[in-house]
Amino acid sequence: MSARKDIKSQLEGYQEIKKEIEICQKYGQDYRNERGLKTAIINRLHPRQLELTVSEIIVENAHTKTLRLAANGSFLPPFLPGQYLNVTVQIDGVRTSRPYSISSSPTQTAYYDLTIGRVKDGFVSNYLLDEVKVGDTLITSGPLGNFYHNPLFHGKKLVFLAGGTGITPFMSMIRTFTDQNLDLDILLLYGCRSVKDALFLPELKRRAELHPNFKFELVLSEPDPEDQGRQGLLDAQLIKDLVADIGATTFYLCGPSAMQNFCTSQLESMGIKRRAIRSEAFIAPEDVLADPGWPKNISADQSVTLTVQRPSGAAMTIKTRVGEPVLTALERAGLAVPNGCRTGECSLCRIKMTAGQVFQPSGALVRHSDRALGYIHSCRAYPLSDLTLMI
Ligand SMILES: Cc1cc2nc3c(=O)[nH]c(=O)nc-3n(C[C@H](O)[C@H](O)[C@H](O)COP(=O)(O)OP(=O)(O)OC[C@H]3O[C@@H](n4cnc5c(N)ncnc54)[C@H](O)[C@@H]3O)c2cc1C
Repeated sequence: MSARKDIKSQLEGYQEIKKEIEICQKYGQDYRNERGLKTAIINRLHPRQLELTVSEIIVENAHTKTLRLAANGSFLPPFLPGQYLNVTVQIDGVRTSRPYSISSSPTQTAYYDLTIGRVKDGFVSNYLLDEVKVGDTLITSGPLGNFYHNPLFHGKKLVFLAGGTGITPFMSMIRTFTDQNLDLDILLLYGCRSVKDALFLPELKRRAELHPNFKFELVLSEPDPEDQGRQGLLDAQLIKDLVADIGATTFYLCGPSAMQNFCTSQLESMGIKRRAIRSEAFIAPEDVLADPGWPKNISADQSVTLTVQRPSGAAMTIKTRVGEPVLTALERAGLAVPNGCRTGECSLCRIKMTAGQVFQPSGALVRHSDRALGYIHSCRAYPLSDLTLMI
């Protein structure tokens, strides 16, 4: 008992805490002084919403720009490299949002960079690239997401498999880990069509020259005649050729869904366990009808009606079609539903369905209890019949 007491008394701060306890026991504590303090700290670290100013726009290549977002004199919450912001916009009367990974490093707190690639006919990416100017204000969420390196579980050997714009979360990680000189062994395998599509090449080269524990390889699937670099895809053979200790490595994947599926199957064909593979899909599968679970004989154009019951008791009806996710139909009708990743994972867009039937693809990570109680992840729920929803 006395040995335990001795150890405690040697702990840093022990005497101060002991004294504070004695004072509190004698006089009590006036907690009114601290009212609201913890809420203020929590709101500062995990704000629901941020108002950020576009302080600079950097053209990265013909179809990609970086929007540099500064806080309006307030405090930018910290984030982990790999996390994203959900950017809310109002376009032609429709309020919607999209997630974008922070490509800058949290080692500086002056701004967040979002690097945005153009998606053909994309609703939000084209707006952000063509309409947003320096000085504009963007409304975003606070930093979100679980795609980051956890030193306790993910070890020191990391292989990043990036496809196209999917380089952005890795850029934040590479900038952070090299700036901090962390004891990690990082290999980036960066798949692009051609050199002109590759982002951040000069910076990647410079960081690889300065930091022997960071290496990268550009892998081109449709190179231009003058392009230098490896040709092919991020496949099992390439990984076997370049990764020395596969069993001790954690693989991170980020890019379009097709690239994700391909790389995951390649890694699994090499016997790599699921727990050593961490991934973030940038865009939900484009053709939900191609999902193996899609019910036969239902066409995406079939029209359906959503009846939305409001807490006030009022109800509204929305016409949509089977192939449109419920969240998109609600946004078109002017209803705001909180959301984050829009790929079915984060569950922020979860709503209650009291009647009807939806299709939720395998990527929509709906809890068993939610399915039983009728909750759906509206970003990836496709109405197979008329629905009644409570919002
Ligand atoms: C966590 C995360 C981080 C991301 N980070 C970046 C980034 O750093 N840089 C970047 O450029 N992009 C990033 N993205 C992708 C980005 O969020 C948008 O998806 C992209 O900009 C396209 O949006 P859009 O409005 O232009 O296109 P949309 O108009 O949404 O269309 C894009 C395509 O996706 C399909 N689609 C979209 N949503 C759904 C859905 N719910 N179900 C089925 N199909 C759907 C559409 O049919 C269309 O073909 C990220 C995505 C995620 C999930």
